[in-house]
Order: sequence, then structure tokens, then C-alpha cells
Amino acid sequence: MIEVAGFQFDSQTMTVVCGHVEKGTEVLLSSHEFDGDLVISCGDEGQGMEDWHLAGLLRMTELHPALTKLPEVGPGREATRGVGQTNWIVTDISNDN
Ligand SMILES: [Zn+2]
Repeated sequence: MIEVAGFQFDSQTMTVVCGHVEKGTEVLLSSHEFDGDLVISCGDEGQGMEDWHLAGLLRMTELHPALTKLPEVGPGREATRGVGQTNWIVTDISNDN
């Protein structure tokens, strides 16, 4: 099991990521969907369907240790941060994307 955003996930859990963070771009947005899925992205809202991939959550936490420092993010909530910032801000998932 791995803990991300205050919740325990199976180490085999797959998560939805944008292609940028998959290649190492800083993670600036992590949302926790109502169905329990985590979505991890660079925060760019102009991304098309082709930009999204499934990736192992464990591999993503290894690539992006900042994910292990997320505060608790309950279902329907998301955490964002500015470029280079370490503090995550947790809000309800916005409907504008
Ligand atoms: Zn991206």
C-alpha cells in the first residue's frame, strides 16, 4: 500500500496523468475524483484527450516525491500549487475544466 493525499492505495493502483508529468514536468494539480481515482497533471487546462494516460501511482510518487507530501484530499477535492511552491492548496474540484 502507498499513502497519497491522506488515503491508502494499492501499490498496483493506476492513475490518470497528463503526458507532461509522465515525462517529468512538475505536478501542480492532483484531484481526487468521486469514484476514487486520482488525476495528476501539470495544471495546464488546455490539454486534449490525447494528452492523458494511465500510469502506475507508485511510479508517479517515485518520479514526483511532492505527491507524497500532499495534504489530505478527499473525494471531490483537488490540490493545486504554484510553480516551485511546496504548499498545496486544497479546494473543491472546479467545474471549469
Ligand atoms: Zn500536462
